[in-house]
Amino acid sequence: MQPFRIHVLGCGSALPTLRHNPTSQIVELRGKMFMIDCGEGTQLQLRRSRIRFTKLGHVFLSHLHGDHCFGLIGMISTFGMLGRTAPLHIYAHHDFEPVLRSMMDFFCTGLEYEVVFHPTDCGREEIIYEDRSMTVTAFPLDHRIPCCGFLFREKPSRRHINRNMIDFYKVPLSQINNIREGMDWVMPDGTVIPNERLTLPPDPVRSYAYCSDTRYMPELHNIVNGVSMLYHESTYGDDNEANACKYYHSTAAQAARVACEAKVGKLLLGHYSARYDNENLLLKEARAVFPDTQLAMENNIYDIV
Ligand SMILES: [Zn+2]
Ligand SMILES: [Zn+2]
Repeated sequence: MQPFRIHVLGCGSALPTLRHNPTSQIVELRGKMFMIDCGEGTQLQLRRSRIRFTKLGHVFLSHLHGDHCFGLIGMISTFGMLGRTAPLHIYAHHDFEPVLRSMMDFFCTGLEYEVVFHPTDCGREEIIYEDRSMTVTAFPLDHRIPCCGFLFREKPSRRHINRNMIDFYKVPLSQINNIREGMDWVMPDGTVIPNERLTLPPDPVRSYAYCSDTRYMPELHNIVNGVSMLYHESTYGDDNEANACKYYHSTAAQAARVACEAKVGKLLLGHYSARYDNENLLLKEARAVFPDTQLAMENNIYDIV
């Protein structure tokens, strides 16, 4: 199976701490790198991750709070200094385009690459990116300002050739592509060998949902239902449930509740409040509701299976 993994560059929340970087992640899927959010210092974290800057073609911003986007202009400028020529695609709320263009006019004159802006609505579920092997769907979250989550989903792959059966039925090489496309094989004597006998099932479709920042949403499980891995913000613990509601954030237990309701494979927590010296309490509270939970940590990589 091709790699599908998350590189966590930052998983803190708005107030700076020495323990965490502001939010940013790289979704690596079949050799392509997609960035979600770009808090301050993200380009340094990207350096640390050893991901080549040129590999990054698409940046998705969940919302326009500084801890999710203050790093973008610095990164755009750096890419210019490094002589980038490939376009960079930015997906963000439509209010951001004039702000970004004016910052670029001031700080990034003479760029030799194009920054292509794709306005997002954040008010409805919509596919905002699609290629041969995957889609990215944006969907609304419940935050103080328009905010969307992102769902990365592989497209179903083709069935695998079963070498033993191909040899057994003496299927000529010239027919392999047709078999891969789903065709049956007709033997010279007219016997039809069904495609299922010549092939093995395709790899299971994997998916990753990113939900930050948001209040607990009772209906969210409908959108992220059955994803292989869910990243859900857990700014607070149970001790601050009232604050979570007041500031449009979630507790770890609420994140776990979404994971439970959506029957996801794994839950990854993040966007930790600066008030916690370590996040084990959050992990414990989440695991009491959804056992297959992990804490996101900077510079860690999480494989999606
Ligand atoms: Zn935030
Ligand atoms: Zn926010």
